[in-house]
Amino acid sequence: SQETDQEGASLIELQEIDQKHHIHPFTAASALRQAPPFLIDGASGCYVSGQGIKLLDMMAGLGCVNVGYGRKEMVNTAAEAMQALSYYHSFSAVSNPTAAALSGLIANLAPEGMNRVFFANSGSEANETVLKLIRYYWRSKGKPEKKIILTRDYAYHGSTLATTALNGNPAMLEPYGLETETGIERVRAPYWYRQGGSDTPEQHWKKAAQDIEDKIIELGAENVAAMFVEPIQATMGAIIPPEGYLPEVERICRKYNVLLVADEVVTGLGRTGHWFAQETFGFKADIMTLAKGLSSGYVPISAVVLHDDIASVVEDGENIFQHGFTTSAHPVMAAVALRNIDILMKEGLVDRVRTDIGPYFAKKLASLADLPLVGEVRTCGLIAGIELVSDKTTRAQYPIEAGICSHVSQAALLRGVIVRPTGNNIVLCPPFIVTHKEIDAAVDVLAEALTEIENAIKAS
Ligand code: PLP
Repeated sequence: SQETDQEGASLIELQEIDQKHHIHPFTAASALRQAPPFLIDGASGCYVSGQGIKLLDMMAGLGCVNVGYGRKEMVNTAAEAMQALSYYHSFSAVSNPTAAALSGLIANLAPEGMNRVFFANSGSEANETVLKLIRYYWRSKGKPEKKIILTRDYAYHGSTLATTALNGNPAMLEPYGLETETGIERVRAPYWYRQGGSDTPEQHWKKAAQDIEDKIIELGAENVAAMFVEPIQATMGAIIPPEGYLPEVERICRKYNVLLVADEVVTGLGRTGHWFAQETFGFKADIMTLAKGLSSGYVPISAVVLHDDIASVVEDGENIFQHGFTTSAHPVMAAVALRNIDILMKEGLVDRVRTDIGPYFAKKLASLADLPLVGEVRTCGLIAGIELVSDKTTRAQYPIEAGICSHVSQAALLRGVIVRPTGNNIVLCPPFIVTHKEIDAAVDVLAEALTEIENAIKAS
């Protein structure tokens, strides 16, 4: 407890300072008043450490540290890039070598025809940029009335005001009066396990897709600008689309001249075992957003990638897209993202997710499905959702206030493994370098944690 940081404050003092001054995202202040924050001050590979404790991070931070923590080559790249050019903007006809190279590399990797890249700093900013771009696009096409954005239940697209309005979780909307935001329309998600009723999975996803078509017809296609999809709805429990659903969404969007936006903030850069989830699920978007995996969370950077057909309108003639950030295309962030992609390529990490560690992860996690608390285990590449239920047959859930998932994740944490509780789901999203042994250890811990909480429920 007497350990000190570089400036001499003890860890206990720093915890107190944090408690007093630091507002944490998506966190009840009451929780922080009761217990000081856990200070994490080191990380390597798949582990984070602090206060003398080392934890296996099966969440890769927030699903972003894909190449693992503490990579020397990333650190050196950042230092060299900062030494060479600590900052310059990209407004007007100015660029820098790393941003230029990164835009070219993203265009090379991206699905065919997606060749134009705009840089921002976070997933939210990328999606916010898209919302403005879409308006700009339709105005440029002489259709300014085409403004309505379709989004889905259970979506998460960000935390700025406009992207919050796209989210599907009422708890995120209500405090800001956004649940009735005009210009945003919600449709059903392909969430068969929770909402399928007596339908077969195929009947359910077809209804979910039909919902989109019905909504477009109801609103008038001339008023509908775009549809946002997270290929896998990560934040709300790793809801994985059934085969056929996303191609059908694309077909409907094309039929009604509605732009399709793939929010690949989580799935982009390999999480599903392909560079982009559009390959995994067999569909093509007009616009996609990237963030987390672009730099493996080492630095903040995000990107909006446009199909040529969209870019050619946005960039037609003397048009100026009136939008940008001071740190768009930051040279150091771009250098780190380039190095990150270089590591993914040299180490074959995306292939590893698809052919080796992803299938192993799925097989091991499937072993939890028989536990009484587990309703469904969903996996794709290196993302998983474990949905907890109070009754496996009826799929009834514990009330959210009971915090069963938080209890399970806490029990796992006490055994040294980080997973993420979200609603009635536990999400795992480990680094791509996770080993078979680390997966074994995490699954053993989860089995113990689930059993402990099940026993506690029975005893109460
Ligand atoms: N889109 C998706 C699919 C996300 O999961 C997230 C964050 O979790 C975001 C957008 C927002 O990204 P950021 O937190 O970088 O603003």
